[in-house]
Amino acid sequence: MAITAQKLFIGKSTKQRHPYKKYKNMKTKVIFNDIIPFRGFLAMCLWPFIFVRNSAASHYNTVANNHEQIHARQQKEMLIIGVALAVIAWVAGFGLWAFLFMPIFFLWYGFEWLCRLVQYRDSNKAYHNISFEREAYANEKDLAYLGSRKPYAWTKYLRIK
Ligand SMILES: [Zn+2]
Repeated sequence: MAITAQKLFIGKSTKQRHPYKKYKNMKTKVIFNDIIPFRGFLAMCLWPFIFVRNSAASHYNTVANNHEQIHARQQKEMLIIGVALAVIAWVAGFGLWAFLFMPIFFLWYGFEWLCRLVQYRDSNKAYHNISFEREAYANEKDLAYLGSRKPYAWTKYLRIK
């Protein structure tokens, strides 16, 4: 069961409260607009921002925000790997091609979606089973989740089934 932020605050020591405070200070900025994401979608994280369509803004609640904030954290940590790989590729002589490693979050996201599509033969099911989405959907209702999340926690959701 998900622990709500309120529950976490009742009868806990200062030390146990800390993770939630940390999460509050590390929120990624939400930008309401008319263009991103495409019509039919509610929100999209492109770190360092989260974009929400104005027409769908009334559906953007704390759970949806927590879901996107989890993606923001995933993207931030994947960018570290992307930059590292780009530097290695640059040094290895790949030239400007090295920069293709930078958006590794989106490369992996697309690659895993294709793998899941082969596995489930259902695009919606494939989407929900991408490791990044599994982590976000499994923890979006736990508003304190990001306060205690371990780096690269999405890898725990890589399992096949
Ligand atoms: Zn998502």
